[in-house]
Parts: sequence; C-alpha cells; structure tokens
Amino acid sequence: MDNKKALVVFSGGQDSTTCLFWAMKHFDEVEAVTFDYNQRHDEEIEVAKEIAEDLGVKHTILDMSLLSQLAPNALTRDDIEVKDGENGDLPSTFVPGRNLLFLSFASIMGKQIGAQHIVTGVCETDFSGYPDCRDVFIKSLNVTLNLSMDDQFVVHTPLMWLDKAQTWELADDLNALTYVKERTLTCYHGVRGSGCGECPSCKLRQNGLDTYINQKEGANA
Ligand SMILES: [Zn+2]
Repeated sequence: MDNKKALVVFSGGQDSTTCLFWAMKHFDEVEAVTFDYNQRHDEEIEVAKEIAEDLGVKHTILDMSLLSQLAPNALTRDDIEVKDGENGDLPSTFVPGRNLLFLSFASIMGKQIGAQHIVTGVCETDFSGYPDCRDVFIKSLNVTLNLSMDDQFVVHTPLMWLDKAQTWELADDLNALTYVKERTLTCYHGVRGSGCGECPSCKLRQNGLDTYINQKEGANA
C-alpha cells in the first residue's frame, strides 16, 4: 500500500480517540475530522479540538447541522431524553444513516487531502441496533465509495470486534489508557473523563474499564 495517509472520524470520545492513537501508530500521516451536528454538548467539539491539537493532528470540523433537521433525537435535541432501547426498539440516541453520511463525507474529504485510509471507531460487538455499525455495512460502503470516486479507499474499523474491555486493552497497548481515560468525553451529560456515572454511555465505559483492569490484575497476580 503506497498511500500512508489516514483520515480518522473523530468525536473526542473513548472509541475514536483510541482509533486516533491506532492510526498514529500505523500511518505516516494522520488527520482527523469531526462532524458538528448540534451535539447535546458543544463540549464534545471542544474536547475533540483540544485532543487533536494536543496530539499534533490536523483537525477539520465539518458542519453537519442538517442532520438534526432530518432526524430529531436525543443526541441533537435537548427536549428528548436519553434512554436505552426497550422491547427491541432502537435507543433514543439513534440517528438513522449517520455512519453512512459521516463515512461518505470523510471519504470525499479524504479524496481532497490525499488520504486513502479512512479510520472509524464503529463496532459491531456492542451492537445496540445501529445497522450502519455492522461490518457487512462497512464493507458494502467501502465498495460503493470506491466505485463512486473511482478510487481505492480502505475503511479501517479497529474496534469492530472488540468489546469495551478490549477497547481499553487496545488503548493500553497503544500506551494511551490514562490519556483516553482522563481526556475523552463519552458521557451523554457532557462530563469529561469518567463522566456522570449514571448515563448508559458512562455505565458501558466504566464496566468495560473495570473488566479490563480486573483481567489485567488477575493476569499479573
Ligand atoms: Zn454520563
């Protein structure tokens, strides 16, 4: 593979920050792109900016505010409560087709900046009903992107088959566990680091970390 430039879809959360460290290890040149779609917290954009700057990664913020026009939901609207999906319903944080849009825009940007490698933190393991997080979708989209732009993009999904504990392990392997733990924002209530501790995202993150730390200590005992 001649082209060694990667573009990371980056939100400033645990997963995409781990992907950013992963990309910095595997590619000569890395840029990051953040999609601004009226997230619950402008804090997310701020965190993404700070981390990219701190790591010396060129960072672009693309305005995707049209997404909240298309799909009003808990991530983009203050008046809708964040809750887990019940009875097989999708969680209220779901924006249909979000990854389809984000990865398409990232690839168009990749074309402009000469990056053939697109890196995203989507994950099928914690699959909570998001059809465009599935591996089969990513592979299908990769083909479509290449056909649409007559190019040879490679969409990388380093977290695809990892659970949250294994994602922490990957961060640890990349010498970034403390950084990811302290600097990223995953909490639905906009609290950095370990977060509010109450929302579904915080619980998932903390359970994963506890599991990983226990396994690690067990292995070292
Ligand atoms: Zn939280």
